Amino acid sequence: MSARRIVLFGPPGAGKGTQAERLVARLGVPQISTGDMLRAAVAAGSELGRRAQAVMDRGELVSDDVVIGVAEERLMQEDARRGFVLDGFPRTLAQAEALDGILDRLATPIEICLVLAIGAEDLVARLLKRAGIEGRSDDNEETIRKRLRVYREQTEPLVAYYRARSLLREVDGAGSMDEVEKRIGEALS
Ligand code: ADP
Repeated sequence: MSARRIVLFGPPGAGKGTQAERLVARLGVPQISTGDMLRAAVAAGSELGRRAQAVMDRGELVSDDVVIGVAEERLMQEDARRGFVLDGFPRTLAQAEALDGILDRLATPIEICLVLAIGAEDLVARLLKRAGIEGRSDDNEETIRKRLRVYREQTEPLVAYYRARSLLREVDGAGSMDEVEKRIGEALS
């Protein structure tokens, strides 16, 4: 039986969003993407969205308190009882610890943490290509480099955090989306 409570992370542009979509389609669990939820809040013009937008456009991280609140509310919903793929959360050690606390209370701990590994130049090229297609306001070269730096400084320490709990599976994120999907399937089996 495959794991159903999964954290998926990796640098911006590693293909996290695409792989999360494919994984949830296969497992029949919700995709919980804090990036998508924050963008929805921006689009809706809510108080949360107004506070988050400037930070996101600078390529920085929205504060732990805010993001943890958003993720917790989502994890408490009924459909997440079946499992979930967390996409883009946690992104800091404080978020990872808060997540463990939330899931302990629900008695549904993380079963596997998948990290997509990929070289920096590939990432910038992919992100600039996506910028042309999707027109995301945080996909310009300066912001992309900033997001990669933020990833290295604040998110990469999670590799050690999950490795220490024996939950980490590293997956090579190079190549086509189909190739990466196949490697993820192997990592989960
Ligand atoms: P990507 O992985 O391509 O950078 P996301 O959609 O995951 O994109 O996130 C976009 C932006 O939303 C981030 O740069 C950050 O500003 C904000 N964000 C998303 N998730 C988090 C999080 N867990 N903690 C803090 N900020 C977040």
